[in-house]
Amino acid sequence: MAKWATRRTDSCCFMTGSLLSAPSRYVYSAIREDDDLADQLRKEGKKVVKLSSGDPAIYFPTPRYVIDAYVKALRNGKTSYSRSQGIVELLEAIVNRYKTRYKIELNEEDVIVTSGVAEALTFVNSALIDVADAAVILKPYYTQYPVAIRMFGGKFILGRYDETKEWSIDLDGLAKLFKQAGRKRTRPKYMLITNPNNPTGTVVPRHALEEVVELANEHRVLLISDEIYDEIIFEGSSFVSIGELADGIPHVILNGASKAFDATGFRIGYVVVPGGDKLSTELKHKLADYCRVRLCSNTPAQYAVAEALNNRVEHERTVGEMVRAIQGNVEAVMKLLGENQHLSTVMPRGAFYIFPRIDMRKMRFKNDREFVKGLLEEKLIQTIRGSGFGSPNHFRIVALAPREVMADSIQRINDFCMKNSKG
Ligand code: PLP
Repeated sequence: MAKWATRRTDSCCFMTGSLLSAPSRYVYSAIREDDDLADQLRKEGKKVVKLSSGDPAIYFPTPRYVIDAYVKALRNGKTSYSRSQGIVELLEAIVNRYKTRYKIELNEEDVIVTSGVAEALTFVNSALIDVADAAVILKPYYTQYPVAIRMFGGKFILGRYDETKEWSIDLDGLAKLFKQAGRKRTRPKYMLITNPNNPTGTVVPRHALEEVVELANEHRVLLISDEIYDEIIFEGSSFVSIGELADGIPHVILNGASKAFDATGFRIGYVVVPGGDKLSTELKHKLADYCRVRLCSNTPAQYAVAEALNNRVEHERTVGEMVRAIQGNVEAVMKLLGENQHLSTVMPRGAFYIFPRIDMRKMRFKNDREFVKGLLEEKLIQTIRGSGFGSPNHFRIVALAPREVMADSIQRINDFCMKNSKG
């Protein structure tokens, strides 16, 4: 060790005093940032209510038939490495899902199974992003997006969802942004949208998606749609997959078992690349290479997710119950938040997030970070600061806990705002 450490001129890390790569400094999770403080409070015997984690399986047990399929896979010895891009049973089930649900025709080669959308994001960015490349994401964004771009030396260009228009996509802003990028000859590698959205719960309407597809086509930018919440849609809203509209232009769909199949800990996601064009073909082959390098996703979990997808009767029943309970929660929370003069909130249409704006002029806090920390310390409610999603002056509430816990928590949030009001 001594010999190694004395070769000071070999590598820049010895000059800077760190072994870590430059992009590694961007690897950070705003979503888990207050976990240490919450743990500390728990150690002190306090009962912290965690409204920060988008994990349905904490409150809605993963359906029994899926668990049984997992156990069966284990008992049948499905415990070895499996096919890198995904077991055939799961690929077939995913192809089937897209055919029946969205009338999208896929081949098995168009689907790549990953260890969650989290891994899919890493693969996609690693495959596409060179140092100094740009990609377009929209704020508020899911916290992993900018991290995954910067991890590979890329940078992100920010479009936005417009809060004054129910968080709809700011299409004029996007058009301008592409024109500017064109003038600077920095064509972004991709544009990524989230539908339904985390953290706002927005479901993007068909006409807006059509315009997004048009923009991607006009500016020759790969379109990626993260649709992991595509089955958590509230009554009265309808969801359209980008795959229904983008036929003929290169696009990618990200999805998985975590949310709609209530199986976050299984770590099963997938990438769909439907096109037969050169770019799509190159990309799916490269993603398959990434899969081979990391060997495979969790084997028994893949069997369980295949069963979850195939047993449509049980799936519709269980996911239907979950979505109704979530919608009830969201409506109850929105009603209570309506009494709060310090917050204003756009009604979510899907997923399970609520993203209130904090009127900072009325509050004794400097910013959303202080607000969220204060709420945790004073009222033992853990939420996430909006700046972690690129949207300061907001905070994110997860509406998955039982109704009475949600109601009590929002009451505490309302009390907290009153107590810390400037006026
Ligand atoms: N994409 C979005 C929009 C998410 O909200 C999340 C998790 O919260 C993920 C991806 C991660 O999903 P997975 O559990 O499949 O890695």
